[in-house]
Amino acid sequence: MNTNVDNTAPAQKYRTSFLQEVEANVEEGHWVKMCMQCGVCSGSCPLGKHWEHPPQEIFMMIRAGKREAVLTSESMWMCTSCYNCIVRCPRGLPITHIMHGLAHYAKRVSLVPDNQQTAKFAQLFWNNLALKGRVNELRLGMALYFMNGLGEGIKTALKMKDIGIDLAKTKRMNPMELLGGHSIKDLSGFKNMLKKAQELEAARIQPQNA
Ligand code: SF4
Ligand code: SF4
Repeated sequence: MNTNVDNTAPAQKYRTSFLQEVEANVEEGHWVKMCMQCGVCSGSCPLGKHWEHPPQEIFMMIRAGKREAVLTSESMWMCTSCYNCIVRCPRGLPITHIMHGLAHYAKRVSLVPDNQQTAKFAQLFWNNLALKGRVNELRLGMALYFMNGLGEGIKTALKMKDIGIDLAKTKRMNPMELLGGHSIKDLSGFKNMLKKAQELEAARIQPQNA
């Protein structure tokens, strides 16, 4: 009997470890293998021509095992959730969710480039929300201005100052919110809920090549 025969089922044999990692860890990642590379999603995406790798290409790269190129890509961060691709994909892939899932996973495994603007803003938004259980829009706006350094922040704040003054005059903005603002009623309950969700998420992530 030839003991060198590879009995791995063909479908299993051609699944790269990165595809398996995506299937295990990325929201709706198990759909990636269903892509037939027709290109409808990339052609339908309003931002398609600006993407480094449009969705069709990202799926092909996942199947080719290009882990670092995919997870360090800017592309999935550009998805605006317009859902054009989902309604048109002949295979019914939940492309939007996969894109956001890949962005989230890239963040979890620390492969997002430091200067990725959407990721930076997402982190600011999260920090702002998690602090008091509600979004403090004034502090979030200021954090956005200063996201890329003091000089740029001052320049943007000066450029926007007239709008800020008008908003304060018409009571659409309360400058006192800059000092912290109010929190939701059950802040400690909210924080416990976030902590539990983070624990569950951490337990769900499977290591690479598992
Ligand atoms: S439209 Fe669907 S099947 Fe076609 S390339 Fe995009 S994801 Fe793949
Ligand atoms: S949902 Fe995202 S990937 Fe799909 S068409 Fe819109 S921007 Fe492009």
